[in-house]
Amino acid sequence: MVQTARQSRVLLLGGTREARELAERLSEDRRWIVISSLAGRTRDPETLPSEIRIGGFGGVEGLTAYLKAEAIDLVVDATHPFAEVISRNAVDAAGQLDVPYLRLCRPAWRAGGGDKWQAVPGVQHAAEVLLPGSRVFLTIGRQELAPFFARDDVHIIARMIEAPSGPVPSHVEIVLARPPFGVSDEVELMQDRKIDVLVTKNAGGRSVESKLIAARNLGLPVIMIERSEQSIAVDAETVDELIVLLDRHYAT
Ligand code: NAP
Repeated sequence: MVQTARQSRVLLLGGTREARELAERLSEDRRWIVISSLAGRTRDPETLPSEIRIGGFGGVEGLTAYLKAEAIDLVVDATHPFAEVISRNAVDAAGQLDVPYLRLCRPAWRAGGGDKWQAVPGVQHAAEVLLPGSRVFLTIGRQELAPFFARDDVHIIARMIEAPSGPVPSHVEIVLARPPFGVSDEVELMQDRKIDVLVTKNAGGRSVESKLIAARNLGLPVIMIERSEQSIAVDAETVDELIVLLDRHYAT
């Protein structure tokens, strides 16, 4: 696309539903030229309406060089709440060049009445607290399965969008599916598979929270892998809030 006056170049760090929605909404707005950046974890990423670049930048140094080379005016970080390295790198790189940085991050889920959550600080802890013989519904994606592969004294139904790259042990069943999921479907899955416990990350967001409602309705315990304490400020919790900030930024 030919850049005209008053267009700002936005690097949109993505890999989330919110980043996709932002790319869609900003691509309809001629004030912005958006370059969506994906880590390249998915073998077959969905198409996006914006320009796309795929793969790591090479740490803070590589990202700083990229921001300079591409004359980026603004970094929007809409990565997953658990993608902590790229967020930290983006703050550092943008800070070095005085490029504005805005972070969109969904609020964490909070346990309500009837929830039986056990908060744990990481995937390793989550795997360690599983009771021997239990049937586990695991929804943490495909990158951090190793501690669960090692627990051959439990049966695991692991749901993810794309299959893991290596071999899968016999006590783990992979279910491939893409959100959103309805509460009644989640209840049915948990009942059909005789699930005793749900293990998930506190990702937040409406599109995947139905499993929590299903677990509550069935009285099932949830092992909740919590986010680590982060010092990076959250500027917006929703796409709408982020767009308001972009409008303000453009006006100044
Ligand atoms: P991470 O630990 O924060 O980042 C590890 C490295 O991956 C970064 O240092 C960077 O490599 C590269 N990277 C990550 N996100 C990138 C992006 N959007 N564009 C370009 N490079 C990126 O990240 P992660 O937890 O592995 O997550 C990877 C991607 O999956 C993110 O885009 C995230 O939004 C998405 N995702 C993550 C989770 C999760 O549970 N962690 C869940 C759903 C989606 P360099 O240092 O070489 O630049």
